[in-house]
Amino acid sequence: MSDQHPTPLILVVEDDPAIASLVSAALETRGWDRVVAQTGRAAIQAAAERSPDAILLDLGLPDVDGIEVVRRVRTWSETPIIVVSARGEDADKIGALDAGADDYLVKPFSVGELLARVRVALRRGARGPAGPAEGATIDNGALSVDCASGIARVSGEEVHLTPIEYRLLVLLARNEGKVLTHQYLLEHAWGEGQVGDLASLRVIMASLRKKVGAGLIQTHVGVGYRMVRTE
Ligand code: CA
Repeated sequence: MSDQHPTPLILVVEDDPAIASLVSAALETRGWDRVVAQTGRAAIQAAAERSPDAILLDLGLPDVDGIEVVRRVRTWSETPIIVVSARGEDADKIGALDAGADDYLVKPFSVGELLARVRVALRRGARGPAGPAEGATIDNGALSVDCASGIARVSGEEVHLTPIEYRLLVLLARNEGKVLTHQYLLEHAWGEGQVGDLASLRVIMASLRKKVGAGLIQTHVGVGYRMVRTE
């Protein structure tokens, strides 16, 4: 886990000064520290020098492509990154998630939405990037997964999952709070030499959500899925 600041520090990467100051003011209401970068290069430099606890990254920057910023930062840092894209930039948003971003916001977004996402990112960052150790038990609300025996339970009752459902569940649980793209899930949940397809993924996810409780796994239409923390 990263060396967290006593007061969380958020790096705001945004070339539009009006949006940057709006976002900065919103973060200030929570007492979080902010540093603003207006270009991709400045963002990479600030990420290295200041070690922020979370990064809000506008994808449309004047110099370096936002996706490239994600790639560069990910070579040395696991700091949660929330990308901010304009409507119609779905491909960019998905590319950024595949490059290692955690979450996305679509402009225009509300202040409440922004603060909620940053809160999730900070929680995820504080927990460390690796998630539960190999073989550990994963607990989230009523769900518990004993990774050693490969048994999932909801409210103590064993849930019967197919091997792919189980692998999807563990992938999502290990990356709790992070949006995993269709592409990522297709590459990681199917067995050696097997390739999944989007239609099958949708059917399997629908079945999995029914078995473990739909509230635990969010569907991001056209993007992917995310496991959320439940009490
Ligand atoms: Ca921009």
